[in-house]
Amino acid sequence: MDSPFISKDGLDTVKKYVFGQRVEACGFLFQGPELEVYFESYGDNKMCQHSHYTRYIWHTHPHNLKAYPSPEDIVKIIKARPPKNYPKVSIIFTTWGIWEVSSGSRLDNLDPDYLLQKIDATSESLYRNTERGRVLEKQPVHDYIQTVLHNFNKKGIKLRLNFTPWDEIRDRYYLRNP
Ligand SMILES: [Zn+2]
Repeated sequence: MDSPFISKDGLDTVKKYVFGQRVEACGFLFQGPELEVYFESYGDNKMCQHSHYTRYIWHTHPHNLKAYPSPEDIVKIIKARPPKNYPKVSIIFTTWGIWEVSSGSRLDNLDPDYLLQKIDATSESLYRNTERGRVLEKQPVHDYIQTVLHNFNKKGIKLRLNFTPWDEIRDRYYLRNP
């Protein structure tokens, strides 16, 4: 089966939300292999909320917000969601590039506060090492990902978190954890 991807048109669409808006936008990617970028709503001055979940959900962090996932963005994906366990992958489009968060395991007895705190501390250091989140620096981003993954693995949670900068994306973006 062909890997699902977002076409150049789809990427142009999401970039308009990232670089042209001051509020989060969110929606769904419908299965392709070419994924259709479906816009659902804006989050007025707060996190954008999906009305429901599908396999692939997306939201933006526009240019005036942080260019990396919030702790809630990451923890949300591992909370149990019967019956279909959706979403499988949460895609976050930011000024730096594309983040994917997905989980191979779900835990009902998860302690979200512990994980939120750990991610918060890790995000702090990313913030400091990127001129307050403004300048993309690849090494701090790499360190951030490794530390977050380590904290989840320690708890037996198979989290996947990856990042692709815009300048490494040519015409299409293939999902890295479909
Ligand atoms: Zn977010």
